[in-house]
Amino acid sequence: MTEQFDLIVIGGGPGGYVGAIRAAQLGMKVACVDAFTAKGGDKPALGGTCLNVGCIPSKALLDSSRQFHNLNHLFAEHGITTKDPEIDIGTMIARKDKIVAQFNGGVAQLFKANKVTSYHGFATLHADRVVKVKLHDGSETELKAVNVILAAGSIPVELPFAKFDGDYVLDNAGVLDLDAVPKRLGIIGAGVIGLEMGSVWKRLGSEVTILEALPDFLAAADADVAKVAAREFKKQGLDIRLGCKVSAVEVKRKAVRVTYNDGKDDQTVVFDKLLVSVGRRAAVKGLLADDTGVKLTERGFIEVDEHCHTGVEGVWAIGDCVRGPMLAHKASEEGIAVAERIAGLPGHVDFNTVPWVIYTEPEIAWVGQTEREVKDAGIPYNVGTFPFAAIGRAVAMGETAGMVKVIAHAETDRILGMHLVGVNVSELVHEGVVAMEFKGSAEDLARICHAHPTLSEAVHEAALAVDKRAIHKAN
Ligand code: FAD
Ligand code: NAD
Repeated sequence: MTEQFDLIVIGGGPGGYVGAIRAAQLGMKVACVDAFTAKGGDKPALGGTCLNVGCIPSKALLDSSRQFHNLNHLFAEHGITTKDPEIDIGTMIARKDKIVAQFNGGVAQLFKANKVTSYHGFATLHADRVVKVKLHDGSETELKAVNVILAAGSIPVELPFAKFDGDYVLDNAGVLDLDAVPKRLGIIGAGVIGLEMGSVWKRLGSEVTILEALPDFLAAADADVAKVAAREFKKQGLDIRLGCKVSAVEVKRKAVRVTYNDGKDDQTVVFDKLLVSVGRRAAVKGLLADDTGVKLTERGFIEVDEHCHTGVEGVWAIGDCVRGPMLAHKASEEGIAVAERIAGLPGHVDFNTVPWVIYTEPEIAWVGQTEREVKDAGIPYNVGTFPFAAIGRAVAMGETAGMVKVIAHAETDRILGMHLVGVNVSELVHEGVVAMEFKGSAEDLARICHAHPTLSEAVHEAALAVDKRAIHKAN
């Protein structure tokens, strides 16, 4: 028998599970099919890439490695000393796994509380919104709904000459599960995953070399922020080599030999482990039967309009498997917006106010346009910057690297972008997000009383600096 639903969501990541819950809140009868299985078992593991092998486990390891690094390098200046600190990698990984399992269970509980029916298995969409599911226990079932949301997420891009083997050539999942600190860790791609995971293993003692194809470091970020970050990463000993064209990867005698051209000569470098983090692509294999009418773009993403509709009646797609930034919060917002649209409400996501955060040290965060984008668009603008070195709280914390930069329209003073590099800027960036959502100006931020001593005073001062009236620096 085909079970009927108002909505079937394929994919239980931050796009799918959030969309499913919102739809249930709005009174729909909802099913969510997700294929992810918990590490080392056969239990369902709701939460997708983000929870299982992405955002959350990477942040758990970033935190463990940060504690270890600080104990080794920063505690002494506070008068705290300890003899030969050690880290047990097994305990660190087990802590990470426990956090993941806790949240897997949390999503399952939320489904229960909202009466979302959960299927553990692999789903294929057929014509007329029929969804056939190969359940994890080997059986099959068929579902049908008025609406279907495709939220299948993404998988890592594999280089043809560097196939993932789970042992030496690793993807994001492999690098989160190493059982020892590799002496030499190579990384192809100085993007978000390369920098975050490179930071983790560098702090734990690896020599980390990152080979990046582009000539510019962090090309998506504002150039001033990228410059500060590059300087700090260099100080930390991350060896980031730009403009490198990798041509071969060979695993031999328990080591990985990588050949690349640095723009002038061919170079060879040998690692104990290699992470390939050169981007991700939509996870559409097996998702769509031939008769659905759902189209893919040239780059393999599911084609959608600005409302995440595929053009096929009742079929929507959200998150990493469609255009736009591959970010968990973007996926979730799209899930909510689509559920609301289905319910006849005006769901909407403003891509211009989606914040970006890279959880290195210092953290990097931004919202809105970079100075280069504003300039290229011919928009008249003013810039205000303020360094954390002049912020009392940052100095007290021993975290003086970085700055806040506010870009505002020269005529209207409306905030066009906020770019930050420094301690806890993953939180501070939201001051810019809120201001931009409310169409705020630099003066709005400048006139808001900020508590002293806090890191957010750097945002206040940068907003004042737009009009050349920062107090704690010469304008
Ligand atoms: P996913 O989270 O990929 O979920 C899709 C789910 O659908 C998966 O469970 C998959 O198994 C399932 N699925 C796929 N096809 C089928 C099918 N046919 N049938 C049934 N189930 C199916 N983003 C951030 O915002 N912040 C971060 O700090 C961050 N850190 C990251 C760190 C790493 C190492 C990685 C890899 C990614 C990180 N991301 C981060 C990106 C973030 O994980 C993704 O943007 C987010 O998970 C996308 O959510 P989604 O729901 O679209 O897809
Ligand atoms: P990315 O797009 O961030 O970075 C990939 C990097 O690899 C780029 O700098 C690119 O120029 C480089 N590259 C591509 N091909 C190359 C090649 N052949 N040789 C050398 N360099 C090459 O991709 P990622 O780091 O794999 O992460 C994937 C996505 O996951 C990110 O775009 C991001 O959306 C998401 N993510 C987000 C966070 C976060 O929000 N903190 C963390 C991790 C991942």
